[in-house]
Amino acid sequence: MAQQYPQVRDYSGIIDRITALPSSLYDITQHGALTIDPNRYPLFSVSTKFNVNKPTIFLSALNHGHEINGGEALIRLFECQNTLPDLFDTFNVVAIPYINLWGYEHDTRRNSNAIDINRDFGDAAPETEEAAFVQDVINDLKARNDNVVAFCDMHETYTIKDTAFRQETAELDGTPLNQTPVATQSHIMIANDNHHRNIGKTMIEEMLEYGADIIGNGKQVVASGSKNGLVISQSDVTLRAFCQRSFVGAACFSSEIVPKDENNIDEQAVTEFYAMLSGMVKAIAPTNSLNN
Ligand SMILES: [Zn+2]
Repeated sequence: MAQQYPQVRDYSGIIDRITALPSSLYDITQHGALTIDPNRYPLFSVSTKFNVNKPTIFLSALNHGHEINGGEALIRLFECQNTLPDLFDTFNVVAIPYINLWGYEHDTRRNSNAIDINRDFGDAAPETEEAAFVQDVINDLKARNDNVVAFCDMHETYTIKDTAFRQETAELDGTPLNQTPVATQSHIMIANDNHHRNIGKTMIEEMLEYGADIIGNGKQVVASGSKNGLVISQSDVTLRAFCQRSFVGAACFSSEIVPKDENNIDEQAVTEFYAMLSGMVKAIAPTNSLNN
């Protein structure tokens, strides 16, 4: 993997931004570090100061290392809360902005051991340090009795790169090549129930308002049951599914934004993440808080 994927980014710039977040507003927690280079790869979560009267929204990004806009969106959100004031007014916000640190630096889906972290959330103990770290954060939330009402793992679909990663998946895992067309429009993965459908609908509406190009309307269907931007997710080994099992009653999503620029931060993709989160807040915020 190391030779196949040369380093193209430096996580140290992200460490600087996370550790510069004001301690008056946030708790920055380090959850160990990757053993391949502990000084270089410390793992962080960021939380607003816990308020027992608020429900919690839990967010994560960079589960796949080349999907860089979700992490950027999350860090900017903490740097400037004014982007989504209703989110911070109404909820505790807990986030893991960067999960796959080596993958971020090497612009690849998998980690340094060529494992897809988002297939490491089954019933067995995790194989990867990254998934174990995420489970630590989730266990801390459960121990603190956080009322986690919603979760989103922020993913992106890169039309060119993900076509290549499918080939890699077939070779590394010995599975048949996934032949369905790679999505070229943004969408949200949901469980097959009305709770998720209703919240997801508001998230998609908000994304459309901010110019998102959304799957559906007869243009493209990537899974049976997908409609108007919502795609039913069957996989039970993803972080989304793990959170669904961990936080009873919470609405758990993975968002799939499709950036037009596959190599740099894509401002439209960042905007779509905010629109998606704004829709989530609208759909689940207790009405009395938003009407104040
Ligand atoms: Zn992904």
